[in-house]
Amino acid sequence: MLYQRSSALFDEAQRYIPGGVNSPVRAFKSVGGIPVFMKSAQGAYLTDEDNREYVDFINSWGPAILGHTHPMVLEAIQEQAASGFSFGAPTALENDIAKLITSVVPNTDKIRMVSSGTEACMSAIRLARGYTGKDKFIKFEGCYHGHSDSFLIKAGSGAATFGDPNSPGVTKATAQDTLLARYNDADQVKDLFRQYPNQIAAVIIEPIAGNMGCVLPEGQFLQQLRKICDEHQALLILDEVMTGFRLSIGGAQEALGINADIVTFGKVIGGGLPVGAFAACDKIMNCLSPLGSVYQAGTLSGNPLAMRAGLTTLQLIQRDKEFFNRINKTTEILHREISTILSRKGIQHCINRFGSMMSLFFNIDKVSNFQEATQADHGLFNRFFHHLLAEGIYLPPSGYETWFISDAIKEKEIDKTLEAIRKFQV
Ligand SMILES: *Cc1c(COP(=O)(O)O)cnc(C)c1O
Repeated sequence: MLYQRSSALFDEAQRYIPGGVNSPVRAFKSVGGIPVFMKSAQGAYLTDEDNREYVDFINSWGPAILGHTHPMVLEAIQEQAASGFSFGAPTALENDIAKLITSVVPNTDKIRMVSSGTEACMSAIRLARGYTGKDKFIKFEGCYHGHSDSFLIKAGSGAATFGDPNSPGVTKATAQDTLLARYNDADQVKDLFRQYPNQIAAVIIEPIAGNMGCVLPEGQFLQQLRKICDEHQALLILDEVMTGFRLSIGGAQEALGINADIVTFGKVIGGGLPVGAFAACDKIMNCLSPLGSVYQAGTLSGNPLAMRAGLTTLQLIQRDKEFFNRINKTTEILHREISTILSRKGIQHCINRFGSMMSLFFNIDKVSNFQEATQADHGLFNRFFHHLLAEGIYLPPSGYETWFISDAIKEKEIDKTLEAIRKFQV
């Protein structure tokens, strides 16, 4: 049996951990079957508990952009570990990573490190509210900004409206301050500002959406949001937890020519260790305690091991002038070749891609918002997923997720992937 130990471990996990996992998507609920338990990772490959190898297209949901267990990052973590794991006091390392990030990311003078993307986005909203003195904010259907209460809100039947809590435990009062709009629909955002004059602190968005599958902003959508925010003295928060240090060294702001008021980070900036961050200009960041009155803190924020892993990862990316060209090119080849193979098989599909993020939707021509993402053929995606898993290719276990291409994926891994797709039968 292929997944013997995974199966036994999953049985055990379910006795001690809700659903057997510490983050829901890992449970394979969307695609069905038993989640594969991994025991090691190196370069482009994951190895499971039954000693099967997989070409990894998740890469820890982004952080392993250099490939897994990069030797220089490993060395940095080992060296740091010998000097201590956590001090609860400032370190020179925190200055180094703050200097690096604020020097390459536009519109950022200061940055605060946290331990997850969730914390980063939650703190960014608090900061925007504190700065503007307004309570409400706008998010887009299908965008994910972590699991803090005010983000777990879905739209009522497509229309922009007061959100209903998406999860028990989120109060109606909290949900009321989260306004929803359709991705790629700037008119809806305008309407919300008209409907709630002087009440909206911020608009938060994934500049390339990655949590409804990969969905791209169309035309001047982001620029229109910038303009609307300026007209209403609201802040534009770009959630670059996925896109930061993935689309370009300056993130989506640089890649898409858009200016943010607050930027949030996670994933890549920790190089595989738990790190998040949020950054903005002095005027906004100076509102944070201990300088200002907006409270924000963290026992393990700026943790030295995490800072070393993150800093080393970012330095490797920064020094390699061909880095983004290379991963983008790999992704472009995958996009083109996968599309050719599927078309020859007569399988209708659409691939959304930007840089090294992509996703594949079946039986649909175009996906530009959440509603369209739901109309794709997810049953077919699930069969595709299991076919590839059995062939040793590890895709995100849901048609609503993005594939993250790492720098360790080379010709050999591309060939193996395409060969596996050629064997797929509907
Ligand atoms: C992953 C993600 C988050 C949440 O980050 P965590 O580290 O999982 O808390 C927030 N925003 C976006 C865009 C993400 O992709």
